[in-house]
Amino acid sequence: MNQKQLSDFLQANNVPSYRLTQILKNYYSGRVKSYQDMSDIPKDLRSQLQDQVEFISVSAQNLIEDKHTKKALLKLSDDHSIETVLMDYDQWLTACLSTQVGCPIGCTFCATGKMGFIRNLSVDEIVDQIVYWNQLLYPKYIGRIVFMGMGEPFANWDNLISSLEIINHKNALDIGARKISISTSGIISAIDKFTQMNSNINLAISLHSANQVTRAKLMPIALTNPLDKLLESAKKYVNHTHRQLFFEYALISQVNDTPEEINQLIKFIKQHHLFYLNLIPLNQTSSNLSSSSTDRISQICQLLDKNHVQYSLRRNFGSSISAACGQLATKNTKL
Ligand code: SAH
Ligand code: SF4
Repeated sequence: MNQKQLSDFLQANNVPSYRLTQILKNYYSGRVKSYQDMSDIPKDLRSQLQDQVEFISVSAQNLIEDKHTKKALLKLSDDHSIETVLMDYDQWLTACLSTQVGCPIGCTFCATGKMGFIRNLSVDEIVDQIVYWNQLLYPKYIGRIVFMGMGEPFANWDNLISSLEIINHKNALDIGARKISISTSGIISAIDKFTQMNSNINLAISLHSANQVTRAKLMPIALTNPLDKLLESAKKYVNHTHRQLFFEYALISQVNDTPEEINQLIKFIKQHHLFYLNLIPLNQTSSNLSSSSTDRISQICQLLDKNHVQYSLRRNFGSSISAACGQLATKNTKL
């Protein structure tokens, strides 16, 4: 829903302002699937709204699920598709959101990267992924957000920031900053801007190698945003915000899991007590890269333990339905 369009419409029709709050609460809760369902709104107004203000900007094309995850393929008004994932592992329902159709960064191990870049998502398209889940799950609702779907959030900065305002707002989705995480491939200027915002939103940086040469091979963004500068920017973030900073590391056999690479990784993470490592076994995409073996992963964990590195090993959630965040498969998308 386009909030500006809605409030302009209400104003132009001299509708009292409390109706805006009422409509927004109805909408974001997921309780209603159309204006007609808003039983606390006068019938005439419902009909006018139905005709003149778009309701939800995304529609489900496909939904697949396994025990703890669901993946929805959502169609946009121009017929492009994006994916959003729901994770149900603990007390919070978590939605993994996309910010772009495709991605301009082109990491070699990533399914979205392979698609190339189509366009940025609008604010409505970002927020409506949550509304879609709230509608499907009502009376349950999304309590936590991760920006780890398709696209590079910081490459769609303005719409990301505006969507965060709605996600945060008590009359809209009312999700607190500490319940939101953004993952970036490491755009230094944007990380610096984010640092200055003094936000309680969690930040994760996709590291994938603590060696500039290896990292640049995996992530072309590293050519223009090199590791030494990224490290400086990361230190500025933790020193300024005093918040933990998460580094994501997808374990790729013979590429970033060798003893030399792991030594460099340990050194990197240990440079600051607020640096925290998230290990993820690589989800196989069409590329010829494969995940480190379980044996190698346990050796690496032992090494990290021995060196007192703070880390977690993320389970490969959703891989059976190609729903693992950040590697949302392109199989179903019509492009
Ligand atoms: N574009 C942003 C956020 C989306 S990706 C970013 O790159 O950070 C979320 C995470 O999943 C990132 O760390 C990304 O590098 C990682 N990822 C992408 N493809 C993956 C794959 N095939 N296996 C494991 N992790 C992957
Ligand atoms: Fe884009 Fe992130 Fe995939 Fe890299 S890993 S191509 S930045 S979505």
